[in-house]
Amino acid sequence: MKKVVGGIVLLLIVGVFVLTGCSKSGKYDYLVLVNKYSQLPDDWEKNVELVDAKNAWDEDIKVEKNAYESYLKLEKALEKDGVNIELDSVYRSVKAQQDLWDEWSADPEKGIDYVRKFVAVPGYSEHHTGLAIDICIRKEDGELEFDNDEMIADRETFAKVHEKLADYGFILRYLENREDSTGYTYEPWHLRYVGDKKIAKEIMDKKITLEEYLDSIKDIKNNHEAAKYKIETTLKDYLEKDESIINSRFNVTKIYSSKDEMDNPILSTMDLTDKDIAFEVTYQLQPAEGVDINPLMVPDGEFNEDLGWITNISRLGILKYNSKTKSYSIENFGTGW
Ligand SMILES: [Zn+2]
Repeated sequence: MKKVVGGIVLLLIVGVFVLTGCSKSGKYDYLVLVNKYSQLPDDWEKNVELVDAKNAWDEDIKVEKNAYESYLKLEKALEKDGVNIELDSVYRSVKAQQDLWDEWSADPEKGIDYVRKFVAVPGYSEHHTGLAIDICIRKEDGELEFDNDEMIADRETFAKVHEKLADYGFILRYLENREDSTGYTYEPWHLRYVGDKKIAKEIMDKKITLEEYLDSIKDIKNNHEAAKYKIETTLKDYLEKDESIINSRFNVTKIYSSKDEMDNPILSTMDLTDKDIAFEVTYQLQPAEGVDINPLMVPDGEFNEDLGWITNISRLGILKYNSKTKSYSIENFGTGW
């Protein structure tokens, strides 16, 4: 019990500091879901910040600002691997989509089923967000590879592209054989910016769809294992930002997933939303060489000189939900105090 009390006292002391690892957030939701069943939010086009760019054919196009900046970094990084990507189709307004829809529908030879198959219903295309980017490949001979079948067949090049996506906040949106979840067949060229490298990495590492990721963060409150996994991985990322720490291991001892469960008097006074998760954890740290280990030991840690690890540290922390980025970060968790 003593350990927990120590943690609470320290939690109170640092309560005023914002210790959260910050994630990039705009005035709109980078995890917005637009698919065949989920419409673009009404105020999206009014709020989205678009910048001008050129595609592979030197046509004027528009892209969401942060998505474009990240795309340029991705493009540069891939160049070093000998892969040259260029922009194809990016932002498309609802109006432009409507015009396209009307134009195709007016053609008596096409028929409505044909139009439905090849043209997204206006309002239901991810390209409306400015966050979806179709790329094409500039081959060594200078020719462009942009034909869908050709790109699907070019496994080697796209494997290199997909491997780097998460580092720049992108995911592969339409995975192979996942039409059940996304509504679309495999599109190796269609990238989606999600605004946060950590989220992108989780989606890409787990090979899940955006739909599945959004479901998983909805369920975390009701799924103990998912919550535990989330706490451990978020905490690990959080601690790794501290240069005085090389490595860490955790044992989540308690998860408070609802306010009613918070028998802990300190937690019950805190302003926690429905989606926040409070937890108690004991953990071990491997400090970097030469750092002052005393701040890391507080309050009950023990340094094992043979192993080079500090053991028996216990803390209380909060996995705070950010409704803008639809992601969790660690708050009120001190290591260096
Ligand atoms: Zn696309």
